[in-house]
Amino acid sequence: MSIDVDAFRERLVQERERLEHARETVNHTGSLSEETGDLAIGSEDHLADSATETFMRELDDGLDENAAHVLAEIDAALQRIDDGTFGACAVCGAPIGEERLAAVPYARLCIDDKRALERA
Ligand SMILES: [Zn+2]
Repeated sequence: MSIDVDAFRERLVQERERLEHARETVNHTGSLSEETGDLAIGSEDHLADSATETFMRELDDGLDENAAHVLAEIDAALQRIDDGTFGACAVCGAPIGEERLAAVPYARLCIDDKRALERA
């Protein structure tokens, strides 16, 4: 049994780009739209509108901090791929499981240790 590490790497990189774009978008909205006014109404800006709304919803309620957290987790997961330890639980070393990794590709704990941590 082996994990398709390359597929996970691709997913992680894509998720990373998406999050970074979302954070940029969030950081620019608010200040930018108010300060530059009609300058912000360019074709590029218009195209980004629907995407911005989606990201804004996702990053609502202080989730920008969560995005930063997930970005750090993604970086750590990419590092584990390079180290060859990706997919192994950080606590007990057991395989995290492909199903769990499919849901959370940057998971660092097996489901048992994750639950133990949440109970603590
Ligand atoms: Zn474990």
